[in-house]
Amino acid sequence: PSTVRSIINAVQRYKVLNTLTHDCFETALETEQQLLSQKKNNSALNGRPILIKDNFCLRDTLTTCASKMLANFRAPYTSTIVQRLIDHGCIIVGKTNMDEFAMGIASWSSFGPVANPWSLTKTMATNEEDNKTVLHIAGGSSGGSAAAVAANFVSIALGSDTGGSIRNPAARCGCYGFKPSYGLLSRYGMITLVNSFDSPGFFARNIDDLIYATNAVAGPDNEDATLIPKPFKPLKTSTELSKEKRKIIIGLPDDYDIGTLSTEYRSCWHDLVHQLTETGEFEFRRVQLPHTSYSNAAYTILSACEIASNMARYDGIKYGHHTKNIDKNKDTYEDIVTKTRDESLGERVRGRILAGNYYLLQENYEKYFVQSQRVRRGVVNDHKKVFEEDKIDCLLAPVVCDDPITLAEYQKSDHIFSEDDLFTVGANLAGLPALSFPVRLSSKGFPIGLQLVGPFMQDQALLSIAQRIC
Ligand code: GLN
Repeated sequence: PSTVRSIINAVQRYKVLNTLTHDCFETALETEQQLLSQKKNNSALNGRPILIKDNFCLRDTLTTCASKMLANFRAPYTSTIVQRLIDHGCIIVGKTNMDEFAMGIASWSSFGPVANPWSLTKTMATNEEDNKTVLHIAGGSSGGSAAAVAANFVSIALGSDTGGSIRNPAARCGCYGFKPSYGLLSRYGMITLVNSFDSPGFFARNIDDLIYATNAVAGPDNEDATLIPKPFKPLKTSTELSKEKRKIIIGLPDDYDIGTLSTEYRSCWHDLVHQLTETGEFEFRRVQLPHTSYSNAAYTILSACEIASNMARYDGIKYGHHTKNIDKNKDTYEDIVTKTRDESLGERVRGRILAGNYYLLQENYEKYFVQSQRVRRGVVNDHKKVFEEDKIDCLLAPVVCDDPITLAEYQKSDHIFSEDDLFTVGANLAGLPALSFPVRLSSKGFPIGLQLVGPFMQDQALLSIAQRIC
């Protein structure tokens, strides 16, 4: 029986989730046949169907970043990570829906929003508009990947985490999401959002699958100079881990216990602490990360600055959307860029470009950019102190404050950022590995996830702790 065929059926049956920007069903069926007739390679990923967030380039295939700007863009080359997955025998089934250019927390793209699979337990309306009041956001920005894994379309999907975009939707959809240390996974061919924060990573329904996928792609790449130049030591799966049971010291950041964290989500956090303490294998200590309250502001400013610079390439000349509404006698280059962007970029994206350029103005540079870099350094040092001086093995923290809102509610709101970012951006500001995992269901039937955050480059240690907890 064809696995790819069953995925096609599932995706079509649950079209309302809108998990894909476009599919690669035909080539996936062909690849599946080819792999069946070939000698099996011994990768754990051989023959595994996989979905790719639509900000990773795949040669000759649409790579849209879920934006009208790139609606017709076919990548001229394949990203390192996707190529390595293919080399391991993965079958690429499609590209997943996301927030436009990975900016956001709701996977609300130019091609419609991703819906949270857990909404499907509710009664559906018959038309799209009414359904927006029944369906909930899947989190973002890698919501298509998270929803597809949670809905069991595939067992592994690729995403990217710049400020929480893997951990947030993983928590909202009820699957595992792993953002490795910055510099472990190549960003070559992943369309840049914020160079110094972007981290590719995976979604899965168990930790071993995250490890198989990460092991297949991690390590040096001549095309990405920001990678750690050391050879990558493969992460150990559950069966390879030593049975040694050293007591684990886990930090609970006081600064994450914010007023907007709902009672129910706080209880989930505290209950897990209780449960784990009772096993005798874990000890919990309160820790301070004093720069946390500034981290959202610093993230907002620094990300906007890098976005402003990265998005300069979308001028409608080199590639992507190009306005047809040109007055040859009158329009300047700036006019063409303006029209092109007005027609093809969403409000959130244009807002971030504008904000970034504002922060980078000569008179603002010191006040915003430089000040935010100081906060970033503070966040790095806060974590260093906790891990090195306080001897904490990892942190346990919430990922979001409360259950997801409906698509209709999200559409009415105009916020680009959310309080939830506060939990996730710290790991990006400091480049740390972090894993979000499902814990239990809320009273309204939505998954509640929590995250573990570890010291820089201690991905193995973090995942070993996760194996003991989950
Ligand atoms: N909410 C964050 C933002 O919009 C997340 C981005 C991300 O991780 N891709 O910048």
